[in-house]
Amino acid sequence: MEKYQVVIIGGGPAGLSAGIYTSRAFLSTLILESTGTGGQAATTDIIENYPGYPDGIKGPDLMSNMEKQAKHFGSKIEFGQVAEIKNAGAKEKIIVLEDGTNIQCDAIIIAAGAKPNELEVPGEKKYRGRGVSYCATCDGAFFKNKDVAVVGGGNAALEEAIFLTKFTNKVYLIHRRDEFRGGKILQERILKQPKITIVLNSIVKEIAGNNQVEKIKIENVQTKGISFIDCSGIFIYAGHKPNTDLLKKIVQTDEKGYIITDDEMKTDIPGIFAAGDIRKKFLRQVVTAVGDGATAAMAVEKYLSEIS
Ligand code: NDP
Repeated sequence: MEKYQVVIIGGGPAGLSAGIYTSRAFLSTLILESTGTGGQAATTDIIENYPGYPDGIKGPDLMSNMEKQAKHFGSKIEFGQVAEIKNAGAKEKIIVLEDGTNIQCDAIIIAAGAKPNELEVPGEKKYRGRGVSYCATCDGAFFKNKDVAVVGGGNAALEEAIFLTKFTNKVYLIHRRDEFRGGKILQERILKQPKITIVLNSIVKEIAGNNQVEKIKIENVQTKGISFIDCSGIFIYAGHKPNTDLLKKIVQTDEKGYIITDDEMKTDIPGIFAAGDIRKKFLRQVVTAVGDGATAAMAVEKYLSEIS
């Protein structure tokens, strides 16, 4: 059986930062990633508020640098989906992957992040990959000179609506309230962007088409009036939910499923720590995720020296 002092579940900013710190503390470290490293930050076009990059940095570049740095100091990165954590409260814990691999470790840092919320409207699942997307950076270029819609009023919706204007003819920004949650600097840019049409107080009721998305049905929440927007794509940025389905039975979470930790990133189970967007916290940003990762790593080092 493979054996490590620390296994980090998730290779986004929190997990990679934790790996940099545990490896530099000479703890044998495995970072487990289910799809690709970098997490949601790797699907963001430009990150403008990560300190040290006055002109911004491309999300994939920042994350690829973090991955290189974690590997450089000795973290091993493997791909695998965690199916089970056995002996969670014991000194020696066992992580079982879906392919049956068992990995033994002394400490676990859960940094599995969050995934996009769905609108849960008719047509959303049917047209996923055929016009419905949750990642403008990944799919935006497919909509060259087309009309698209973006749903949401947070930072992600505002940023990605602006990003989509690079390729598309027109972007309808549909938000369920009359004011945006996203930052003022982005709101200002949205208002100045001639390709963006803002549709407020409106919710998507249905996504329709033939082989591809062709139109969306929206309802004005104040007047209850129904209208249709012709578009080839719809990008959904309706917030996130934590990737804790598997972990809810193991560590304590809040009612939304976010893991509850103390300020050393400890969960209620000895030797299990959590970092990044998966944790109950005030601000979910790359800069806070990397801070969490560093703190969790140092708390793991302390924990391991105490139990040895
Ligand atoms: P947020 O939770 O900030 O925003 C989600 C948006 O989706 C809200 O406007 C919400 O509306 C709307 N929404 C939620 N559910 C529905 C629904 N069922 N139908 C329609 N609309 C819905 O999520 P984000 O993904 O934008 O951001 C996540 C975190 O990442 C935040 O902390 C954000 O600040 C951060 N982030 C920061 C960036 C930056 O600083 N540059 C860039 C991207 C993300 P309502 O407002 O009415 O609740």
